[in-house]
Amino acid sequence: MIKKILIANRGEIACRVIKTARKLGIGTVAVYSDADASALHVSMADEAVNIGPAPSKDSYLRADVILDVAQKLAVDAIHPGYGFLSENADFARACADNHITFIGPGPDAISAMGSKSAAKNIMQKAGVPLVPGYHGDDQSDETLKKHADEMGYPVLLKAAAGGGGKGMRQVWNADEFDSALRAARRESMASFSDDVMLIEKYLTQPRHVEFQVFCDTHGNGVYLFERDCSVQRRHQKIIEEAPAPGMDEAVRRRMGEAAIRAAQAINYVGAGTVEFLLDGEDFYFMEMNTRLQVEHPVTEKITGEDLVDWQIQVANGQPLPKTQDQLQLHGHAFEARLYAEDPANGFLPATGRLTLLQPPQESKHVRVDTGVVQGDEVSVYYDPMIAKLIVWDENRERALQRLLAALRDYHVAGVTTNLEFLYNVAASQPFQDAELLTTFIEKHESLLFARPTQIDDKMLAATAMLVLLSNQHPVTSDGDPGSPWAMPLAWRANFRHEQTLTFTIGDTTADVRVAHCGTPKSPNQWQMKVNNQTYQVSGHVDNHVLYAQIDGYQQRIGWASDSARYTLFTPQGALHLDYHMPDTGHADDSAHDGGFAAPMNGTMVDVSVAEGDKVKKGDTLLVMEAMKMEHNITAPADGTVKAIFFAPGDLVDGGAQLLEFEPDE
Ligand code: ADP
Repeated sequence: MIKKILIANRGEIACRVIKTARKLGIGTVAVYSDADASALHVSMADEAVNIGPAPSKDSYLRADVILDVAQKLAVDAIHPGYGFLSENADFARACADNHITFIGPGPDAISAMGSKSAAKNIMQKAGVPLVPGYHGDDQSDETLKKHADEMGYPVLLKAAAGGGGKGMRQVWNADEFDSALRAARRESMASFSDDVMLIEKYLTQPRHVEFQVFCDTHGNGVYLFERDCSVQRRHQKIIEEAPAPGMDEAVRRRMGEAAIRAAQAINYVGAGTVEFLLDGEDFYFMEMNTRLQVEHPVTEKITGEDLVDWQIQVANGQPLPKTQDQLQLHGHAFEARLYAEDPANGFLPATGRLTLLQPPQESKHVRVDTGVVQGDEVSVYYDPMIAKLIVWDENRERALQRLLAALRDYHVAGVTTNLEFLYNVAASQPFQDAELLTTFIEKHESLLFARPTQIDDKMLAATAMLVLLSNQHPVTSDGDPGSPWAMPLAWRANFRHEQTLTFTIGDTTADVRVAHCGTPKSPNQWQMKVNNQTYQVSGHVDNHVLYAQIDGYQQRIGWASDSARYTLFTPQGALHLDYHMPDTGHADDSAHDGGFAAPMNGTMVDVSVAEGDKVKKGDTLLVMEAMKMEHNITAPADGTVKAIFFAPGDLVDGGAQLLEFEPDE
């Protein structure tokens, strides 16, 4: 019996595993790097041990150090979470050699699925349908090109050792092949120390549908239905849901059974995921992930099962808790992944301190899995995921309403995040209509990235009130509530009684003329003039909710602010308004005039332009590698490259000026 588990991971998944272990009365040991000394997972565990410096290779990937800790603290089992050592067959083997249970499949099953090419060979034999392609040993440029040419474009180059969308490139025609191959190999080598490639026919309209499987040591195998993970950026998931909308019962059964066949072909034990591309009613095996997935909570929500509990039971040698017939699918669940990243800038990872982190209230409908708290740093060392927001309800429509409400109630500041992007996706008509394709984000780009340039006058008045309220002089406990200092901003010494507040929304500037008309008893009242219309405005702020009453109509609006940028979460999507601070000019200029400061620490991979070059809006200027992914830095407008400060191979500090760019008049 497992009585004590070491969690060889960090962040939300470490916290997630600790929760179930605690529920089962199992002791927990956390491990942590120097950067994580005060991390949430450390404080949640019964015991915690420092295993080295911040870089993963010196800490979370140190199998020897982790095993040593496990021995010293007499743990019975190691849960590897996802990422890090979770799909490392040598580690699983070393655990067994040290008489420690590895909570996951056997090393042979991990090895079998470790290479996408080898996995395809096995699946082909097991009769699981594959995407047409080449996954052979001859890796010469000519052979790969020949297969791509024969297959016909578009094709997809994939790193055989790949994961997380790394080392993957779409190739639309023969001319692009060579440079795409070089880039894919480079990225694969940097991430996996291996650059074996396979080629697949690139399906242009597929859905990503994956099946959660579970097998025990008694020969039983079940599938816990499917997840649709089609909404992706950079081939990485950001919103997942279960079940897959519109899934035909017969197709579900065929896919589920193929998934079990796939697992049983490699004597699989424990939790695994078989990923398919679904094209109409045809489905193709993509890969099998031999671990618990990031998005497992949606499966937990629709089945009512605790998958970590299942993992522990299977690791204890017990049979699966349920048979296929006993498993029931109930309701609908979504998971949205909140990342520190900048969607407007190619989803570039972001770093910084979470000066505000206020998740929505958890309930039977809302679950938040996170590994950070307010004040924590999102560092360059690890994955920039801040949290997973999971919602559940009786059907998709209701669950989607929950998702929107929970996103509106999620407030983050200090770090650029994809929160509003997630909201825009969830609020969009195609998502509401479940038009799920892996190309969803590309296809609906103009809709999802649309920044409204016109804003409703009343919303503008509400924002003006928000600025006034959020800048109110705080009333101290000994303060006199009748004093002008306790009054809204209009009464402050450095502001006039009447004032004009100016905002920029996209490319448009709008003024709100404000006259305070409150009384000492009821101070939060103004008359506001926008576009020659006058409104009576009153209201208050309660944390991150603005209660705005405009001409007798009250609205509850979620909001967040980051210096002078105010974000309002409206039913139509997130609105950004940049407030022009009095006398300081446009407060947010630097963020909008090209942004050529390096977003984070990284390496310059390629400089695509020369000093003096004239470029067009959207042209790639530089390619940087950060967090093991390549990021294109593009021209924000037509203009001229005046100076370039880095060369390929240079290490770049976050914030460093990369180049000087002069937009055309
Ligand atoms: P990784 O292991 O790096 O996550 P996968 O093989 O799981 O890579 O693929 C990730 C995503 O890339 C898929 O979910 C899908 O959106 C897309 N993809 C993969 N193979 C194909 C293909 N042959 N055609 C179209 N899209 C694909």
